[in-house]
Amino acid sequence: MKKTVAFIGLGAMGYRMAAHLPQHFDHVMVWNRNFAKAEQHANQYATTAVELQQAAQADLIFSCLPTSADVNDILSQVQCKAGSIWIDCTSGVPELARQQAKFLAQQGVDFLDAPVSGQTIGAENASLTFMVGGSESAFQQAQPAMQAMGKLIRHVGESGAGFAVKAVNNMMMAVHLCAAAEGFTTLKAHGVNLQQALDCINASSGKSGVTESALPDRILNRSFPLTFALSLLAKDTGIAIDLVREAKLASPVIALTQSLIQAAYASSEENSDFSAAVKMYESWSKITIE
Ligand code: NDP
Repeated sequence: MKKTVAFIGLGAMGYRMAAHLPQHFDHVMVWNRNFAKAEQHANQYATTAVELQQAAQADLIFSCLPTSADVNDILSQVQCKAGSIWIDCTSGVPELARQQAKFLAQQGVDFLDAPVSGQTIGAENASLTFMVGGSESAFQQAQPAMQAMGKLIRHVGESGAGFAVKAVNNMMMAVHLCAAAEGFTTLKAHGVNLQQALDCINASSGKSGVTESALPDRILNRSFPLTFALSLLAKDTGIAIDLVREAKLASPVIALTQSLIQAAYASSEENSDFSAAVKMYESWSKITIE
């Protein structure tokens, strides 16, 4: 197993993911733009808060930032150690993963696009799914560290493949979210008890991750807790529609859902959770899903 590990970006996901690493590595370095968060992490989890350039000297460098552009910004500021592996857990852009891999190869560094799913609760419980693109040998070397934070770790192809899987996954989740908003406003309009309806649907063929988790835990109870920002979902659906266009495919459901999520984001309050996208449907129909 590679010896030193660093984690760059201690946001909603990164803060919780990096917390598991000290159980598996002797030396875990953390860096965050707002450095007070790195210091707090060090106090809480026995990691070491370091300068960015020092973090880049680790054998394994994890990053988890909002966008691939943010990762590029960081890559332009550091020089890594030859033989190390950069594992980017951002939900990023496949084409940029290929460019990042080429850029780091010039420093003798491997790059894996390794986005995750499972939300903040999965980061907290070390039960994330990692979908990984890049070379098989880098994947094999980095796998034990990913296992410290995840449950299902899959090598899905060459550079960019991990980001592609993540974008398509989140697009499918967005489709389910829009379908649930339309379905549940319709049921309410017909006077149906939504909680009983949800129980039936979750025991039937129309169920999805949205009906099993977002609807009961975020929407019906009107809590909309901010753990995965609507801005990030809008970014992910944007990546997915670009993949569709690059492949010159006809994907009307994806195209429509992309427009709906962009519109929901544009009309949302600042710092809205992804589940708050249903509020757009509620404002159209004057029906609250509760
Ligand atoms: P957050 O917004 O909670 O955290 C973002 C982190 O990136 C913060 O540490 C922030 O630093 C840092 N950051 C932002 N911009 C820059 C920059 N230009 N340079 C350096 N650091 C920067 O995001 P999440 O943790 O929710 O998401 C991170 C990634 O994981 C995203 O790509 C998201 O799509 C994906 N994801 C999120 C999930 C979730 O449930 N939240 C689930 C699965 C994937 P600072 O503290 O200084 O602001």
